[in-house]
Amino acid sequence: MHLPRPAVVARAPGRVNLIGEHTDYNRGLCLPFAIQLATTATIRPRTDGRLRITSAEAPAGDAHWQEYVVGVVVELRRAGWDVPGLDVVLASTVPLGGGLSSSAALECAVATGVAGLLRIPLDDGRRRTLAEVCRRAETDHVGAPTGGMDQLASMLGAAGHALLVDFADPHTPATRRVPLPVADDGLALLVTDTRVRHALADGDGGYAQRRRECEAGDPRRTRHVRTENDRVGAAVEAIAARAWGRLGALMTASHASLRDDYEVSVPQLDLIVETATGAGALGSRMTGGGFGGCTVTLVAADRADVVREAVDAAYAARDWATPVHHLVEPGPGAEVLSVGG
Ligand code: ADP
Ligand code: MG
Repeated sequence: MHLPRPAVVARAPGRVNLIGEHTDYNRGLCLPFAIQLATTATIRPRTDGRLRITSAEAPAGDAHWQEYVVGVVVELRRAGWDVPGLDVVLASTVPLGGGLSSSAALECAVATGVAGLLRIPLDDGRRRTLAEVCRRAETDHVGAPTGGMDQLASMLGAAGHALLVDFADPHTPATRRVPLPVADDGLALLVTDTRVRHALADGDGGYAQRRRECEAGDPRRTRHVRTENDRVGAAVEAIAARAWGRLGALMTASHASLRDDYEVSVPQLDLIVETATGAGALGSRMTGGGFGGCTVTLVAADRADVVREAVDAAYAARDWATPVHHLVEPGPGAEVLSVGG
């Protein structure tokens, strides 16, 4: 018998963390938002039970990226979902390993596509479940010890909102959407990619080592976590008051703490933060795990070009490859784009 094989297309976004870094695995607070850069998964069921996975962005000479997809399918089955064999075709605009969470975008696109295939509607409760499924896929199957912020941001993001996450109970994090009306107040959020690449799952150790240091109670590492949690609380208040200068100062202070106490910055990130704030940005910080990746800068919309040009010039003066800038806005979370066809 020839079964019809309807395709489901699902999309899941990358994320920028506005403030609250390396707090998710430390029972702390963070404030990410979903962005326009996203991964789409086109999914068709197979009758032979096999998984066939292709990606336009597959890293050359590295088959391990497929583990992210296998992990999601295994964890969905473990959660009781009757997932058949699948053809999965991926395409992404999120830079891989760039700190905007291409890994969570990939996981959440696949999980959301499977929900579409099984006709399981996604309310917030199920979105939370899928975020946890995807987090486990990454920690238990890929071996990258991520804390869960990225998957929650990708699943629960909403246009015009950041997502306040409290990991006090790490297995059932509490979330609240926080309106982030920066554009209404003439501001822009500029993401700048250092073009320095980290590798969380590489065992190069930086990220996993910080986790161990926190568990061991290293005073400087835990001081970062404590002060960063305070800064997230203050940032939520500043946003509610539309006190953008205060928010910017908190972002820059967060960067200093990540640079000096947590020691996860690199010279490229520090240069961008210094140059951007020197050129009139309200605040700037590294976003994501560090060791490369991106900065996020809060800047008056009509000064964004000045900041970009200043950063490009500072990079050029050091003969570093020109950084890549993206203006981002808080966008929607993962969604099924189409079913059938
Ligand atoms: P980040 O999440 O910040 O982009 P990670 O190191 O967590 O960085 O994840 C990057 C890895 O995720 C890539 O090296 C690759 O294995 C996998 N990955 C992410 N997106 C894709 C994609 N579209 N196609 C294939 N692999 C991907
Ligand atoms: Mg990642």
